[in-house]
Amino acid sequence: MSTLPFIPFTRPSFNQETIAAVGEVLRSGWVTSGPKLAEFESTLSDYFGGRPVRCFANGTSTMKIALQVLGIGEGDEVITTPISWIATSNVILSVGAKPVFVDIDPITRNIDLDKVSAALTPKTRAIMPVYLAGLPVDMDQLYALAKKHHLRVIEDAAQAFGSLWKGQKIGSFGDLVSFSFQANKNLSTVEGGCLVFNTADEAKLGEKFRLQGLTRQGIDGMDVDVLGGKDNLTDVNAVIGLHQLKQLPEFQARRAALAHQYFDALRSEMKSIGLDNLALQLPPENFTESNWHMFQVLLPLAQLNVDRAQVMTELKDLGIGTGVHYPAITNFTLYKNLGYQVSDTPIAEHIGRSILTLPLFPGMADSDIGRIVQALCQILKKHLKS
Ligand SMILES: *Cc1c(COP(=O)(O)O)cnc(C)c1O
Repeated sequence: MSTLPFIPFTRPSFNQETIAAVGEVLRSGWVTSGPKLAEFESTLSDYFGGRPVRCFANGTSTMKIALQVLGIGEGDEVITTPISWIATSNVILSVGAKPVFVDIDPITRNIDLDKVSAALTPKTRAIMPVYLAGLPVDMDQLYALAKKHHLRVIEDAAQAFGSLWKGQKIGSFGDLVSFSFQANKNLSTVEGGCLVFNTADEAKLGEKFRLQGLTRQGIDGMDVDVLGGKDNLTDVNAVIGLHQLKQLPEFQARRAALAHQYFDALRSEMKSIGLDNLALQLPPENFTESNWHMFQVLLPLAQLNVDRAQVMTELKDLGIGTGVHYPAITNFTLYKNLGYQVSDTPIAEHIGRSILTLPLFPGMADSDIGRIVQALCQILKKHLKS
């Protein structure tokens, strides 16, 4: 057991100004969706170059509403990746459509766009890529593919707030782009999400789905013409988001600096303790436009005599929290019962078994990186197969 303080794999950062602003909203007499939400949405719209933006209760409801806005449901298929948070494919199922899993690229760990064409059928309506750890797919290829096959795109950019593609912000171009503001994300409203639209009409439809399907025609003229839910974001959450946006550049700079410290520390530590030949796969380093939502390595399980769970337990005993993001979705009972097979997406299956998320968040100390890297390398060395 370590006597040093525990380092969680992530931790949100809220400053005193944010805490004071929440107090102000609570004292104001208006706590649910109101003026702060309107201000947050218009600030986000400016951030995304003037595109319409609406906020929702969480990233899951945001993506579900994106599907509803497109009228996707029974009989439709949506192409997506098996390596994501379960929400991505759950929302497809929840509107009655069918998720079609395409295997991933082993380097980026995102959907392999070269394999999408083979998965298309006359029922395919949309493609829903996920930007794992904040790393986008090849956006030129994505939109060329969508155009060629007349598909809509719902980008699950839950982890990619602040990431860029060729210098442009993710969300500032493209089709529907969904973000999550859940506690662990780079920009957090505690819980929340937003959808970036192309047209005011689709944004209006999104608004309708987020509040019971109400058509807004005055108190007496109230009517409902579609089945909506209760998925609004409150002013309490919105004011947190407004302050997080101000801190974002500072958060991003810190994440990038820490990620680069990881690369340096891992390389030098592995070399100095003779682990040069270990196939510990680091994230793609040349990708400088990532928001570094997570720092993930692939454990060289074939070279070890222990499994990932044991490595995680030993790290925890040394005061270091880690995470698994994610096992392939096809492993889950719900999906197995629907007939999905892990063997259909073998790269995802392999990576889902060996991927490990190391701590990375703006509040980390520089010295934490050295401690984590040393602990990980010692554990790997101890368990090398002879
Ligand atoms: C966080 C996340 C979601 C869901 O967002 P919630 O706000 O937790 O509902 C969806 N997809 C991915 C890839 C995520 O990381």
